[in-house]
Amino acid sequence: MEVLTPRDVPLGGLRAMTVRRTLPQRQRSLIGAWCFLDHYGPNDVDASGGMVVPPHPHTGLQTVSWLFTGEIEHRDSAGHHAMVRPGELNLMTAGRGISHSEYSTPGTKTLHGAQLWLALPDGDRQVDPTFEHHAPEPVTGDGWEARVFIGSLLGSSSPVKTYSPLLGAELTLDSGTTLPVPVDPAYELGVLVDSGSVTVDGKPLAAHELGFVEPGAGSLELAATEPTRLLLLGGPPFGEQIVMWWNYIGRAHEEIVAYRAEWEALLENGTSDRFQLPEGDPLEALHSPPLPNARMVKRGP
Ligand code: MN
Repeated sequence: MEVLTPRDVPLGGLRAMTVRRTLPQRQRSLIGAWCFLDHYGPNDVDASGGMVVPPHPHTGLQTVSWLFTGEIEHRDSAGHHAMVRPGELNLMTAGRGISHSEYSTPGTKTLHGAQLWLALPDGDRQVDPTFEHHAPEPVTGDGWEARVFIGSLLGSSSPVKTYSPLLGAELTLDSGTTLPVPVDPAYELGVLVDSGSVTVDGKPLAAHELGFVEPGAGSLELAATEPTRLLLLGGPPFGEQIVMWWNYIGRAHEEIVAYRAEWEALLENGTSDRFQLPEGDPLEALHSPPLPNARMVKRGP
C-alpha cells in the first residue's frame, strides 16, 4: 500500500472553507475513474462560513457528494434542486456540460463529508447532463457497518449509473474489529480514512490519509483499534489520459480553452450551446480563472 497525504486547499468564496485534497497529486492522478478527492470537516460553519459555491460549470465528469454531517443544497442547470444529506449519495453527471451551485443550509452547524469526481470515459463524456440520488440501506456485521453508494460490496449494490466499473462505500468499524473485505481483483483501491485509524493488510493508515492498493488482491483486511470511519473507493485502472483544469475535464489543452470560452460567453452574453445556469440561484455565477501560461498537461497512465 502506498500512503498519500492530503494537502489543504481553500474551497473558494469569501470566507473560504478548507478541504483536504488527496487526488490528484504528484504521485497519483487516478484510482479507477476516481480523479478528484476532497475531504472536509468536521467544520464549524459559524467560523468558516460553511460551503458557499455559486454556480460554476463542469464537463466530462460525474460529481459524487457524500456527507457525514450537515446538509447542502444543490441546484443545477439540468433542472435538479436537491438536498445532500448524510448517508445519501448525490451523483451529478456533467457529461457534455452542466453548471451547479452548492450551499450549506442555514440549519447546518457542522459540515463534514467528501466531494469526489469520476472521470467519464472518452466514449461517454458527451452524454446529456443528469442527476441521481440514492440512499443505500446499510449492511452490518459484527463490529462494522457499510453503506455502498457506488458499485457492489459485502452483499450490497448501488443502482446508480456510472460509465466504468467502480466502487464507492462508507465503512465504519468498531474498536477491535478486523474485517476481511472481498474485492474485485481487477480493481485498484483507495482507502480514505475519515476518522480513527486502520491497518490495511497490516499496514497502518492514519486519519485523512489515502492508502492506494494496486490491483491483484481479491480481499482487503481492514483492522481498527479505535472507532474508525473510512471510504473505500476503487475501479479498474482508467486507462486514459485526461486533462483537468478548474472544473473541467477534457482530453486536450485546446478543448479546455474552448470550454472556458463557452462558459465566459454565457456569463457575458447569456448564450452558450454547451452551458446554462441553474434557475433561481441566489448568487452570481463564478468566472473561470485566467488560463495558465503553460500548456495544460495530460495526467494518468
Ligand atoms: Mn462543482
